[in-house]
Amino acid sequence: MERKVEIVEVAPRDGIQNERVLLPSADKIELIRRVAEAGTDRVEAASFVNPRRVPQMADAEAVMAGVERRPGLSLIGLVLNAAGLERARAARCDEVNVVVVASETFSRKNQGAGMADMAAAAAAILQDARAAGMRTSVTVGAAFGCPFEGEVPADRVLAMIESLLPAQPHEIALADTIGCGVPTQVRALLAGTRALAPAARLRCHFHNTRNTGLANVLAAVEAGVDALDASTGGFGGCPFAPAATGNVATEDVVYMLERMGVATGIDLDAVLRTAQWLGERLERPPIGGLSRAGRFPAVSAGACA
Ligand code: ZN
Repeated sequence: MERKVEIVEVAPRDGIQNERVLLPSADKIELIRRVAEAGTDRVEAASFVNPRRVPQMADAEAVMAGVERRPGLSLIGLVLNAAGLERARAARCDEVNVVVVASETFSRKNQGAGMADMAAAAAAILQDARAAGMRTSVTVGAAFGCPFEGEVPADRVLAMIESLLPAQPHEIALADTIGCGVPTQVRALLAGTRALAPAARLRCHFHNTRNTGLANVLAAVEAGVDALDASTGGFGGCPFAPAATGNVATEDVVYMLERMGVATGIDLDAVLRTAQWLGERLERPPIGGLSRAGRFPAVSAGACA
């Protein structure tokens, strides 16, 4: 039986949200078209947050209105509160990704409320989204460490997940928001989450800030993760992680997994072309290793396996 891991493309949201260059809506729509064309079934297309705090996402509605809908393509909107859910629903997102963080200080700075209040709000949003017929996922940010508090105990992450289970999210994601995590944490958190929620799909979100991104991907795949977030070109900084080098690059993740015999369904050559295209738009070169070194074996376009 062939193993498959789903890649959730986050370049249109996490990848660009902290970039200096503000992409026009048409370029964001083209980015989503390209990643869908490459074989990605789920794309984090926009976030419905305060446009004053995240100017790059101010045109979320315009992007969603302009993006091509395809059978089998799920467009995800990131939301933090009920107003965000309403916007995501009106913009016809297929899925909402509700974010909470496992740190009291980070929660207050990033979301404007403490952990307990955010978890309660998230549970209500998940239930409302589900009732509206949308797929739901909840992402626990700062699950591997906090830029303000340092180490985040696994027990706290798991307690937060447990508090969200009555809302029955379709998927639970563990996010290394600042790119500080290591594979032993990945194994422990995934095993703990699996024990709490045996029926939920599990997803991981890694940043390669300290070069542990692909090691964490491998640990997650070996621990049976269902989906991984990745960003074409490896773009994706974090305002709380100075000199962050971005999300794990889609091209690097696809290359490693496919060569290991783990299917992703994604055309690596198409990802590499889009990474270059996006780098030109953002006025800086892609960060992913494959984008710099080229694929191996160096065969011509068309071969995806
Ligand atoms: Zn991120």
